Amino acid sequence: LTSEESRATATPMMEQYIEIKANNPGSLLFYRMGDFYELFFEDAVDASRALGITLTKRGQHLGHDIPMCGVPVHAADDYLQKLIALGFRVAVCEQQEDPAEAKKRGSKSVVKRGVVRLVTPGTLTEEKLLSPSETNYLMALARVRGGAEELALAWIDISTGVFRLAETNATRLLADIFRIDPREVIVADNLMQDPELKPAFDVLGRVVVPQPAILFDSASAEGRITRYFDVQTLDGFGSFSRPELAAAAAAIAYVEKTQISERPPLGLPERQSSSSTMFIDAATRGNLELVKTLSGQREGSLLNALDRTITGGGARLMAERLMSPLTDVEVIADRQDSVAYFLTDNFLTERLRELLKRAPDMPRALSRLALDRGGPRDLAAIRQGLVTAAEAASLMRGAILPTELANALTDLELLSPSLEYLLSSMLADELPLLKRDGGFLKEGADEALDEVRALRDQSRRVIAGLQLQYSEETGVKSLKIKHNNVLGYFIEVTANNAGPLTEGEAKARFIHRQSMANAMRFTTTELADLESRIANAGGQALEIELAAFERMRLAVVTEADAIKKAAKALSVMDVAAGLAILAEEQGYCRPLVDDSRMFAIVAGRHPVVEQALRKQAASPFIANNCDLSPKSGQKGGAIWMLTGPNMGGKSTFLRQNALIAILAQMGSFVPAGSAHIGIVDRLFSRVGASDDLARGRSTFMVEMVETAAILNQAGEKSLVILDEIGRGTATFDGLSIAWATVEHLHEVNRCRSLFATHFHELTALSEKLDRLSNVTMMVKEWQGDVIFLHEVGPGAADRSYGIQVARLAGLPALVVERARNVLNQLEETDRKNPASQLIDDLPLFQATMRRESAQVPHVSVVEESLRKLDLDELTPRQAMDALYELKKQL
Ligand code: ADP
Repeated sequence: LTSEESRATATPMMEQYIEIKANNPGSLLFYRMGDFYELFFEDAVDASRALGITLTKRGQHLGHDIPMCGVPVHAADDYLQKLIALGFRVAVCEQQEDPAEAKKRGSKSVVKRGVVRLVTPGTLTEEKLLSPSETNYLMALARVRGGAEELALAWIDISTGVFRLAETNATRLLADIFRIDPREVIVADNLMQDPELKPAFDVLGRVVVPQPAILFDSASAEGRITRYFDVQTLDGFGSFSRPELAAAAAAIAYVEKTQISERPPLGLPERQSSSSTMFIDAATRGNLELVKTLSGQREGSLLNALDRTITGGGARLMAERLMSPLTDVEVIADRQDSVAYFLTDNFLTERLRELLKRAPDMPRALSRLALDRGGPRDLAAIRQGLVTAAEAASLMRGAILPTELANALTDLELLSPSLEYLLSSMLADELPLLKRDGGFLKEGADEALDEVRALRDQSRRVIAGLQLQYSEETGVKSLKIKHNNVLGYFIEVTANNAGPLTEGEAKARFIHRQSMANAMRFTTTELADLESRIANAGGQALEIELAAFERMRLAVVTEADAIKKAAKALSVMDVAAGLAILAEEQGYCRPLVDDSRMFAIVAGRHPVVEQALRKQAASPFIANNCDLSPKSGQKGGAIWMLTGPNMGGKSTFLRQNALIAILAQMGSFVPAGSAHIGIVDRLFSRVGASDDLARGRSTFMVEMVETAAILNQAGEKSLVILDEIGRGTATFDGLSIAWATVEHLHEVNRCRSLFATHFHELTALSEKLDRLSNVTMMVKEWQGDVIFLHEVGPGAADRSYGIQVARLAGLPALVVERARNVLNQLEETDRKNPASQLIDDLPLFQATMRRESAQVPHVSVVEESLRKLDLDELTPRQAMDALYELKKQL
């Protein structure tokens, strides 16, 4: 398309198209022509297929038809939404002058056009393209060689102005990205193949978008940021590392690149330290189904079960908190205080929630207005938001509030009432979507506007009078004055009645305009005169309205910071009130969270399963205790080894404890009778088995990769839950791996852990590992069947009940019978070689393991012997012998 030849033979319009297209590679080009955005060539083929719209053609290029398709401008948002969802990026190219201007330059001249915006998944602002309850982050990943942490992330939501930064490293990169859950991650193109980073990019897939490396240049980063925020220096913002600056500047550069001439109102970059949030690796996040289920649905996720917020902003904050549980005890306590406050005052909570129901999405309306993409309804959203903020402030004022709510109230009170007054006094009740449709200013808002509107209305009345007058004068009762877009106002009579208008004196007055099959159309100088007055009045009215819109828009944008703070404050209140409602409705308790290593849950429940059982009116959820706290004198957390039959409730128990830790550290109350949790700095899980066939890994491989990550990273403050390690391979293989894993957790990681297994042999380990206890899911046997009690009790399961479960599942009776016989025989053999024999070998196991672990340096046999030699005591002869001896040991 870009070749000289192709340009030379193109029509002037195609030439313009080809040039613009060449400057925007990688995007579909929406090329504005009148009321349509047209797409040509491959773009047209792709878009017509993706959108299911007709592919046509327009003219020829290099001897071939040019494929074309188009979408009407007024429906463009719907089509954009589809295309973005399908992973396309779109460059929107507008006409930048009146076609009449172009004509003046010559008949062949083309209307000036330019790309005004690139629409990409991470840079959306339109209401239709955004989900109200989800953030929409654009993220930049930068690497600057030489510093302590070489990698940094910056993420921006231009629909709300949130701007954050954090350092990261290759190990935790994926976990950080999943925590933030961006829609688009930009990366310097020269990093795409980096062996350290590529695995992460592969997982992220098409979310990663390579960009020219120059965007990430750290030398010019500070300048780009100061220019954007229009400040002399960044000193006032805090101190940033070089990778952080590079990432922030790249994110800004990309925003500028996609928004072209407009600048969204970003908040100042806020630094997040990686140690301030609980580290949850990507696999754990997925396995625990925090914000979506493994199959990708919101329904069934933890968030869905917990979210009682009312506003879009509240829902987004709730999701963010759930994704990033804290490690700072004080901040957690502040959040708990807010929940507790609303819990004690039901009346206040209900009134606040009533108010919030009318709260619109202020930050997103604000962002559209600032980008000059907003309409009258966005102004109305701000007005309504300001009203809600004022009402919420007066509701909360006067009470003795806990810290977080007191701060929120202060933020609400920053808003000046004058903006709300301005908007309320100007905006009409019913508003058009687009400002160019006019009619959004109320009567009395502007004197000049009222005047021209009166003139317009009056002229309309005069026209009605004229119709009566003409019909009397001519004696044609059916004479009508009508209006259409081509002729404007005209007089119409049926063809039979045309006589009185075309004869005698009348002939001079009624000027013929058009003859139809059955009708004739005329005008008069009076009518033409009136018409132009009406048109002028309309034009004037719109001009006045647009000017007023601009005034209001600027007034809003000037208050942007205060509006954003107020919106955040409302979200904070919404989340706290929502968590209070949840705690009350579900009977949650306030956990004690401190800096100890405790993990003592009394009567804990699984938040999602519990609600699901209730909804199905099934038997209620059975609460269970869990205590992984170190006993006095022990160094390291406890391990609970959980056995029990399939369907007994093992994975439910494992997960519920991980979820309780997350809930506690996000500042929520928890589904338990009581809970004492020492901060969990990292949470790891290896639960459920899922193939990752897309990446060519078997279930077993996935399991081992995840287990390796846990054993390499978990520390003394971590919480680890492991379900059925070693299931994906042959029994002895699996048992050995599980065995060694438990030992490593106990001896090296020393973290609090829950370990569910179907290898009953492992329970023998409790004899040697002092912090390991055996617990089991209790069952009752009744007339050959099993009944699951879902109760965790001390001890080990002696049987798997797999055959009973199989029978319940409807396996043919013959197969069940045969399986029983086989089992009896196998058990007979097993009794001759009990697993407890293995225990005798344990010290050896442990020694090897210690040697290889990171904490204990590797010592070879030769080194050991050398250390034992006392050189001062040796004769030369003995020394010589010792040397030979050492040589032999190599
Ligand atoms: P396992 O991992 O032992 O195979 P699951 O944890 O998958 O068992 O639990 C099986 C089913 O038992 C779950 O779907 C759930 O409905 C039910 N269940 C589990 N734990 C409980 C409980 N504490 N109270 C009531 N029902 C439970």
